[in-house]
Amino acid sequence: MARVALVTGGTRGIGAAISKALKAAGFSVAANYGGNDEVANAFKAETGIPVFKFDVGDFDATAAGIAKVEAELGPVDVLVNNAGITRDGFFHKMTKDQWSAVIRTNLDSLFNVTRPVWEGMRNRSFGRVIVISSINGQKGQMGQVNYSAAKAGDLGFVKALAQEGAAKNITVNAICPGYIGTEMVRAIDENVLKTRIIPQIPVGRLGEPEEIARIVAFLASDDAGFITGSTISANGGQAMI
Ligand code: NDP
Repeated sequence: MARVALVTGGTRGIGAAISKALKAAGFSVAANYGGNDEVANAFKAETGIPVFKFDVGDFDATAAGIAKVEAELGPVDVLVNNAGITRDGFFHKMTKDQWSAVIRTNLDSLFNVTRPVWEGMRNRSFGRVIVISSINGQKGQMGQVNYSAAKAGDLGFVKALAQEGAAKNITVNAICPGYIGTEMVRAIDENVLKTRIIPQIPVGRLGEPEEIARIVAFLASDDAGFITGSTISANGGQAMI
């Protein structure tokens, strides 16, 4: 039986590349999404990967969504916490709503999604939890105090939970992408990208979603059993951390 992988925010951007890479690696994949039905249905039609709509910021909705995934595909063996949003603004102008939305979707979600699958992983003595954090959680980024705080929180979550999972053969790791060419980054003014962002990246280009997906596929594999509590940076040399 194929192992089951759940990818949150798995219908577009980095998450879509992750869903496809895990399917290609032989996993039975479920792709979660938040609200964009049109994109999710197109992704499902293109890939044959089933999609599940629930808000990872909402504990009860997530528990119900995961129950559906497990009823259809079986218990989740590999969880990729990828869903994320930005609500940028300088701190002196940041509203409580901008703060809360980002903490809820990027940090509360780790509790909401991981908690319902953790017991099953412990009982079956196997699990892979992979969290997509960010370079900006490692180094901080002006205009993103909310996002940097949430993504740094993700790294603390990984390091603590990895210690709890180790004896049960569950690994917990984080990937910190730099600038990857998804809608999140393409929303940035093209001139700003060319003149201010790409010059900060020694390899001279944005990363591709598939370059993150390949790291996830490796971390999900049996070959990665000795890697846990780690943070893997994939940022084209932008920050050597
Ligand atoms: P996108 O904006 O392209 O896609 C985000 C995905 O997350 C979508 O599938 C979206 O669903 C889903 N999502 C958003 N909010 C929720 C929610 N509340 N519940 C369920 N699903 C939700 O993002 P990226 O692919 O660019 O980013 C993926 C991850 O990588 C994020 O965690 C991001 O912070 C991180 N990252 C991205 C970088 C980049 O350069 N792009 C750099 C570093 C980290 P829907 O389509 O329904 O809205």
